[in-house]
Amino acid sequence: MTASISLTDPDSPAFIDLAVEGVRRLRPYEPGKPVETLEQELGIKDSIKLASNENPLGPSPLALAAMRERLDAVSYYPDGFGFALKEAIARRHGVPMNCVTIGNGSNDVLELLARAFLAPGRSAVYSAHAFAVYPIVTTATGAVSRVATPNPPAAAMPYGHSLENLYHQVDRDTRLVFVANPNNPTGTWLTSDVLYDFLDSLPPHVICVVDEAYAEYVSEAEYPDASTWLERFPRLVVTRTFSKIFGLAGLRVGYGLSHPDVADLLNRVRQPFNVNLLGQDAARAALDDDAHIQRSRKVNDDGLAVLTRAFDERGLRHIPSVGNFICVDVAREALSVYDAMLREGVIVRPVANYGFPDHLRITVGTGPQNQRMLAALDKALQS
Ligand SMILES: *Cc1c(COP(=O)(O)O)cnc(C)c1O
Repeated sequence: MTASISLTDPDSPAFIDLAVEGVRRLRPYEPGKPVETLEQELGIKDSIKLASNENPLGPSPLALAAMRERLDAVSYYPDGFGFALKEAIARRHGVPMNCVTIGNGSNDVLELLARAFLAPGRSAVYSAHAFAVYPIVTTATGAVSRVATPNPPAAAMPYGHSLENLYHQVDRDTRLVFVANPNNPTGTWLTSDVLYDFLDSLPPHVICVVDEAYAEYVSEAEYPDASTWLERFPRLVVTRTFSKIFGLAGLRVGYGLSHPDVADLLNRVRQPFNVNLLGQDAARAALDDDAHIQRSRKVNDDGLAVLTRAFDERGLRHIPSVGNFICVDVAREALSVYDAMLREGVIVRPVANYGFPDHLRITVGTGPQNQRMLAALDKALQS
């Protein structure tokens, strides 16, 4: 049915008027362009995608083997409790199993948090330039977003979260604060001492979500693993994902770590089978694949060094990043550079929707992918 088919009753309301307030105000998330879509559009081959912070080394071989072994079992529902996966996650973080909530990606856990704690008349607090899913899950519930001013461009962590400004946005009606550490798309991060003090300062009616989607990439000594603070801060929720360093973005598996009472609430709104059967087994195997994690971290460290040097040589400013991506200021409207790079078969991410119309967010690739991306960028900047 096309949108041009008119409703039988000319006086009937438009569907948008039937939708709930929060949904009416939503704009859908814009994902990175898939390689297949680009190749179909332009009739080209061998393009590369450095647009969604996926692991350029692919999935852990142990995860692949685990899935192959289980293919025949997909006629069964997955374990709705996620016992084996939860047990492995709990062991990894040294927390009891009832602190773990598994999600269809960590996006799902963010959604569960919003459903459990937000509603019209309540608010969520997050920073400008923070991960795009925070406004989406907040708005959908009809809650208000209170957006904190980020660090100024000249700060050590330009455009990063200002915990002081976040604190000042918290009010009586706030139930959730979203803190991404490191943040996407900026790649900026918060040190252990300031984040600890921030958590300590929050009033008791506020739950703070520390989103650690890129934690495994960060090697800075002052970078905290907030999951070690769960006992100290009962209103802390830490989210992690298998989409980034574990290389399983297509399977959609993530998790939250929290006080058991919070996990119990999330579990009430969770779909019973939100994490699929192959995903549960693959994620569990990937957790044990230290060699793959080490390799992935090394490729990323090397790639980040290559890209920052290359941008410096070209006089392009960039936001200092500890993630597997970097935001570069192309000093012009970035959409045209993005389009020109697409024609070279290189997909990166425009970030105007994040308030950065002159930046591109580029995922760190393998050595050859980075070189190809730089060649495409050079060509785009010359035209
Ligand atoms: C990629 C990302 C996620 C993870 O998303 P999944 O739903 O687990 O794939 C969460 N938070 C941030 C900041 C991210 O960049």
